[in-house]
Amino acid sequence: MSMEDYDFLFKIVLIGNAGVGKTCLVRRFTQGLFPPGQGATIGVDFMIKTVDINGEKVKLQIWDTAGQERFRSITQSYYRSANALILTYDITCEESFRCLPEWLREIEQYASNKVITVLVGNKIDLAEKREVSQQRAEEFSEAQNMYYLETSAKESDNVEKLFLDLACRLISEA
Ligand code: GDP
Ligand code: MG
Repeated sequence: MSMEDYDFLFKIVLIGNAGVGKTCLVRRFTQGLFPPGQGATIGVDFMIKTVDINGEKVKLQIWDTAGQERFRSITQSYYRSANALILTYDITCEESFRCLPEWLREIEQYASNKVITVLVGNKIDLAEKREVSQQRAEEFSEAQNMYYLETSAKESDNVEKLFLDLACRLISEA
């Protein structure tokens, strides 16, 4: 029997423009809450959550990029050893979508060529303020060979699915 308290350990790093909801997604998934008001910054480097995937204990080490969202300030050390990246934009903020190619260039430059990247369109509870259509995002993600999911950290929509699907894919490619 293994001495470890898990069968798999994966490092997941959230990237994307400031304000898109990265910290809220992490807190929703790891703590089951949506932080009120501003100042959602966790203040630690990463959070841990262990999930059960078909009887396997999968330990997820989830890194948030609080305050480091400007391009090229997140350096190689941050991407190094990441098994997966969650590239997040805000569906109500066109600017956060238009910055995606910049983020992809960073990924190409710094991340492992085996990294799994998921594109996430967050804040779908604000549908009336949507600036980026689902079709446009799907076309973009298909062209880049990325899996795409829309979430709401506020309403807890697809957040569990995001991390559990990612854990499944990480196991299948491990
Ligand atoms: P970060 O800079 O990417 O970490 O973004 P935060 O997690 O700090 O969120 C930025 C702002 O967006 C905060 O005011 C959050 O309350 C808000 N926010 C985050 N996720 C959602 C969401 O799913 N829906 C809505 N309506 N607001 C959200
Ligand atoms: Mg944050």
